[in-house]
Amino acid sequence: MQTTKADLGVLGLGVMGAMLALNFADNGKFNVGLFNRTVEKATRLKTDNPDLAERLHPSETLEDFVASLATPRVIVLMLSAGSAVDEQIAQLQPLLEDGDIVIDAGNADFNDTRRRNALYDGTGLHFVGMGVSGGESGARHGPSIMVGGSAEAWTRLKPLLEPIAAKYDGSPCIDWLGTDGAGHFVKTIHNGIEYADMQMIAEIYAILRDGAGQGAGDIGAVFADWNTRGLSSYLIEITASVLKEVDAETGKPLVDFIVDEAGQKGTGRWSVIEAQKLGIGATALEAAVAARCVSAARAMRLTAAGIYDDIPVESGVFGATAADIAELESALEIAKIVAYAQGYAVLDAASKEFGWDLPMGEIARIWRAGCIIRSVLLQDIMQAYAGGAKVENLLLVPAFADRIKAGQGALRKVVAKAAAAGIPVPALSSALAYFDDLRRARGAANLVQGQRDYFGAHTFRRLDRDGVFHHIWPEA
Ligand code: NAP
Repeated sequence: MQTTKADLGVLGLGVMGAMLALNFADNGKFNVGLFNRTVEKATRLKTDNPDLAERLHPSETLEDFVASLATPRVIVLMLSAGSAVDEQIAQLQPLLEDGDIVIDAGNADFNDTRRRNALYDGTGLHFVGMGVSGGESGARHGPSIMVGGSAEAWTRLKPLLEPIAAKYDGSPCIDWLGTDGAGHFVKTIHNGIEYADMQMIAEIYAILRDGAGQGAGDIGAVFADWNTRGLSSYLIEITASVLKEVDAETGKPLVDFIVDEAGQKGTGRWSVIEAQKLGIGATALEAAVAARCVSAARAMRLTAAGIYDDIPVESGVFGATAADIAELESALEIAKIVAYAQGYAVLDAASKEFGWDLPMGEIARIWRAGCIIRSVLLQDIMQAYAGGAKVENLLLVPAFADRIKAGQGALRKVVAKAAAAGIPVPALSSALAYFDDLRRARGAANLVQGQRDYFGAHTFRRLDRDGVFHHIWPEA
């Protein structure tokens, strides 16, 4: 029987919850209460980890689990997002006491987190929405952690959570980012950027495979080389590893046997939905989500391939000389900066909309280790926000503007060549289009305003005088 009360409890011991519990016991040296709907998972986690067993305390009922925790309690929920969290919160409610903190560490929709926060208001309990990035390995050895909720709850949670977070140069990749849904919102945008980053890498892979006729191993070597410079990041690193992996049965690259249908669990889509709601054009993120949807319609793509296979495209526009590879590297770097700028623009808009005052530089700081989008670029983004600088858009920051000026020509050439070669590059091309739209003093929306005024009397403003105008247009 357990005599000492656990420092905190983890409820939900699936892939992420089990790893997080082990992380608390291992890196935090905390006593961890364990509970899971399928009860055996809690006892199995203890027996499977004899080196940590003395700090793992499984319970067979929710009541015993709650009673096993030191008060005021800290309970980390790591459940499938959605109704499971609501159900669990409802079951916990009568068992909790003043000052207890319930953390939702899953990938929640931040709108749900705001709603759940409001439910806790005035109850004496605290609800904390916490984004955790880094996958299974991150959860076990050190994820990047984005905390929302009350400042009071954060003060109590900091000593419990900092030991389990990833470290960058010894500094923990965790911070409190704002009230209610701030942590989950930032995690959502993290995932949107992740989608864009992955899609852009995949587009460059497609160019090298289909445009330049390179094999997976050679392409892997290109990415491995890029990982030593400006594009250095976890995603480039794992891309090189995935491409170099050989299928044991056939002796051929494993990636060549993987079905080209990308899955998604929703956070990338949420990032785009929220960007749209906030009126921010996050085109590279949108393109990445849409590309996964198109990829998933494989049967339809196979049919379309049969119908359109006689459409001529230019061959030989892509090569694999050192200059060709350098052009692709530069193009990817510029498009990636645009995608991050878009993600940050969404964060900025949400910060204002929800009154979070998000610490933008701090977000870059805590993304530098542990999370999926960790990269050297985040160091530069952190610099852009140094000293609390207000940044309207990262593309307006001189350091990034200089890089874009130097590299945009490469992105332009790559997108143009890809179009000629019939290789789809939706994320790269939407990043370029966004950049061109942004830098254009005179856009084409004057015509859209004319059209809107024509059919809907929506009015327009004029360049040459103040006021709002409606024109009586000739009948069509
Ligand atoms: P998982 O392996 O499928 O585990 C889901 C957990 O939720 C299990 O413990 C399951 O219990 C429990 N659960 C599901 N429905 C429940 C219900 N109605 N009532 C009570 N418990 C319920 O999922 P996971 O990969 O650990 O993900 C957990 C959360 O972390 C999700 O929100 C996910 O989006 C997020 N996340 C995942 C990753 C990743 O790389 N996997 C990364 C970051 C964040 P049973 O064992 O009884 O089924």
